[in-house]
Amino acid sequence: MSSITTTNSPVSAAGQLRPTTDRRGILFIISAPSGTGKTTLCKQLTANLPDLWHSVSYTTRKPRPGETDGREYYFIDEQPFQEMIDRNEFVEWARVYGNLYGTPWKSLTEKIEQGIDVLLEIDVQGAMQVKKRFEDSVSIFILPPSISALRSRLQTRASDSAEEIQRRLQKVKEEVWNYREYAYIVRNDDLSRSLRDLESIFWSERLKTKRLNMTWLENNFILDDEQKS
Ligand code: ADP
Ligand code: 5GP
Repeated sequence: MSSITTTNSPVSAAGQLRPTTDRRGILFIISAPSGTGKTTLCKQLTANLPDLWHSVSYTTRKPRPGETDGREYYFIDEQPFQEMIDRNEFVEWARVYGNLYGTPWKSLTEKIEQGIDVLLEIDVQGAMQVKKRFEDSVSIFILPPSISALRSRLQTRASDSAEEIQRRLQKVKEEVWNYREYAYIVRNDDLSRSLRDLESIFWSERLKTKRLNMTWLENNFILDDEQKS
């Protein structure tokens, strides 16, 4: 069997980011009730897929054990966060479980212009704001198998107090009710299956007709040699 390369999109080793003018980057939004497994899945996705960049949000939440400033989040106080809001530095921001979280504009737009896909791991309020600003974005909602599975995942993660876990569980019904606003639903029961489902969405979106680079098409099929750019 011969091996054929059919894509005109940049292919690099997973984890590398290779700027391209082939197309604009795609904005992927992932939301899920806390404890569903979205951070676990998003880390795997960015490790497995080439040319995907995970945006780093700002938050006023305190770091959990093992979290590093600039990797999971930029951890800042309320005052500088408010100043960033005033300077219009966020694509969206929201108060979630009592803390402020926001997605910065600068790096996100740079990556999209460079043709690198961007992954946002944000709550439902933020997702709705981003969808309005980026109509071309792709939204994915991840569901846990059940509330009891979610409770046990939050307890196993052991990163939040019993009170905080209760607070997060109380919001689940309200969060899940927004599922209709998302283009895709992935049920995170078996981790490797969910990862496969997510990867399929990412690859399919990259192949959508509307994202095809017209210059590439014209140069290869339409224009004569002397007309090519
Ligand atoms: P979130 O980012 O949605 O709050 P995490 O990624 O932190 O959730 O996952 C919460 C806990 O659930 C972690 O301990 C993680 O290892 C575990 N977990 C994630 N996905 C699964 C799964 N499919 N089956 C069992 N446990 C899972
Ligand atoms: P955690 O404290 O568990 O890291 O995150 C709590 C919630 O805040 C999660 O639903 C997470 O997706 C969301 N979140 C993280 N960053 C952002 C952000 O920049 N904007 C918004 N709106 N939500 C965020």
